[in-house]
Amino acid sequence: MDELLKDARRKHYAVGAFECWNSDNVHAIATAAARADAPVIFQASPAEYGTMGGADVLRRMVEGYVAKYHLTAALHLDHGSTLGHVQECLEAGFTSVMLDASALPFEENCELSRKTAELAHARNVSVEAELGHVGGAAEGGIIAESSLTIPGEAVRFVEQSGIDCLAVAIGTIHGDYRGEPNLRLDRLQEIAQSLPGLPLVLHGGSGTPHAQLMRAIRLGIAKVNICTEIHKTYLKAIDEAREHLTPSVPGKFYQPVVEAVSRHVERLIRQFRGENAL
Ligand SMILES: [Zn+2]
Repeated sequence: MDELLKDARRKHYAVGAFECWNSDNVHAIATAAARADAPVIFQASPAEYGTMGGADVLRRMVEGYVAKYHLTAALHLDHGSTLGHVQECLEAGFTSVMLDASALPFEENCELSRKTAELAHARNVSVEAELGHVGGAAEGGIIAESSLTIPGEAVRFVEQSGIDCLAVAIGTIHGDYRGEPNLRLDRLQEIAQSLPGLPLVLHGGSGTPHAQLMRAIRLGIAKVNICTEIHKTYLKAIDEAREHLTPSVPGKFYQPVVEAVSRHVERLIRQFRGENAL
């Protein structure tokens, strides 16, 4: 993943990282990347690959699509919460891992990220960590000033932990925004300038206004995580298919669902590369 993101940061575009929760949605992400003819990141949290049969099952599934469509891709552990998750995904053959210790104090987060980097780098696998804390439903959708990434700390964190890319808290949230978000691009600019060349990651990309997202990418965001947005497309497509079809052949019922998610993912991949405006 590191190679994809370093190129993205250097050339001021971002690689889309899309959440995987079942085979239809993995198929949709793969066909979208093939249509856009661009790199893509498949990612899953332990809860997600858990429902798919395990990290090793997801890796084989992704590998199958990567070979079929000749994709340039990474497979990333998103929000692992223990070193056990990291180990599991390293053994399964993921090419990138994240242990999210962002809710812990600085030194503990740094130490866990350093241990993760030690394990991952021994297998030539990339490491993402989060400093500051990107909240979500658990925090009531509120973005506290105190949860944002502090630029000076970011430099120290990266030096001490040895990670490859840093997820920053600059005003996005996991899930739906309440009202219009206002990304702290001033803060992002400061972080990016103090860490030249290091790819930065934006969690909670879903629903972020296009103009703010594109400015964040120009400033140094090289990976944009997307889950909520495409999950909504997936659910809406199922509702629509249910209205129009008598599902005598289940495969046909899900075809328009895969297509809808694929078109949505393709649009985002192109958008993050600056190819089109939404
Ligand atoms: Zn996240």
